[in-house]
Amino acid sequence: MHPPSVDALARSINDIDLPQPLLVDAARLAIASGDPESARQHAERLHRSLLGPTINATGVLLHTNLGRAQFGYSQSPRATNLEFDLMTGKRGSRSEHAGKLIAKLIGAEAAIVVNNCAAAVTLVLAALATDKGVAVSRGELVEIGGGFRVPEIISQSGARLIEVGTTNRTRLQDYVSAKESHDAALLLKVHPANYRITGFTEETSVQQLTTIDLPLVVDLGSGLLDEACSWLRDGKPSWLKEEPGAKQTLQAGADLVMFSCDKLLGGPQAGIIAGRSDLIAACSRHPLMRAFRAGGLILSALQETAIAYLRRDGDAIPFWKMVQAPLDELKDRAKALEVGTVLATNAVAGGGALPGAKIPSFGVMLEGDHAAYLRAQNPPIIARVNENTTIIDMRTISKEDDSLVSQALQKCI
Ligand SMILES: *Cc1c(COP(=O)(O)O)cnc(C)c1O
Repeated sequence: MHPPSVDALARSINDIDLPQPLLVDAARLAIASGDPESARQHAERLHRSLLGPTINATGVLLHTNLGRAQFGYSQSPRATNLEFDLMTGKRGSRSEHAGKLIAKLIGAEAAIVVNNCAAAVTLVLAALATDKGVAVSRGELVEIGGGFRVPEIISQSGARLIEVGTTNRTRLQDYVSAKESHDAALLLKVHPANYRITGFTEETSVQQLTTIDLPLVVDLGSGLLDEACSWLRDGKPSWLKEEPGAKQTLQAGADLVMFSCDKLLGGPQAGIIAGRSDLIAACSRHPLMRAFRAGGLILSALQETAIAYLRRDGDAIPFWKMVQAPLDELKDRAKALEVGTVLATNAVAGGGALPGAKIPSFGVMLEGDHAAYLRAQNPPIIARVNENTTIIDMRTISKEDDSLVSQALQKCI
């Protein structure tokens, strides 16, 4: 018997929601493998490789592989005033909207938005320290993950790294010698977001560093805007502990701060550079700005997030809404799933932020490993599996998805 034609085979699976060329790819793969019957499987695998929504039941609020902060946004398909001044009818600037609002939120003179925090750090170093020395504590020469290593970013941006102090202790005097003996032109402080050094340690604070007459730039990473957390009903949660705020870091005397927008800020993927307007202007003028600047969709989404902060409306930001969901409510929601055993859990911030910080939560536990079955649901549900039990954490699930989760879990048992 002849194998079926590629076209006929592709047509036979056209109930799968994929464009014709991708169904044809699946049919070709199936025929090439000598198993035409597998066309549907290939097409379904292709379908599942596309980017789409999932339900994060892991209890990791900023799950790196699930897109960090959960965030939704839509806008009308119209032209925008991205770089257009509606008052004068002349050319405007893309830092006039989201950037300006973020600057206001943290008390900065100015702010610009780039693609992520890695771009923010790279641009700051390239604009302020190309061919110059940058002093960094040996305790802060960190790898954040996914190829972001501070020493490599420094060399990529054309600056010269001056290592200061030791891994566990760095004093003000170490920075002073970096300036005097090694000709440092810039001080860089990196918030080691994803690990802790404990024991015999000493760190030089932003405040101390301002006594040195050099620009001080701080890579905050996580993007907590303000330690006061006035957008939360009960203020700063205890698990945020010592997490430095962008506002407080500037108040302490940093000249620039850099941070991500999709970590503790709870917005879309972007990076912020904020602080002294002359330094921001130098960054804006640098040729890399053109390559790093954020697009209109992101700026628009970020503006919406900034407005929610200005309204002090944490519940309008999905990340903070999940953070401040009351424990009782999570427990009730877990019970209402009517499946598995309700248990107290610990959610975590994730995203390399606040290692070890536990956020009390509730969830349900099912005997056995149901991860693959739950991933096969539509939308896929991503659960945590621990010693042959499956745990569904309510903290990272939005309430609107509870019935979907409940139905999927009922089918597991
Ligand atoms: C996460 C992080 C980065 C990288 O941020 P992206 O937005 O992912 O580029 C840089 N520095 C620190 C300290 C971080 O925590």
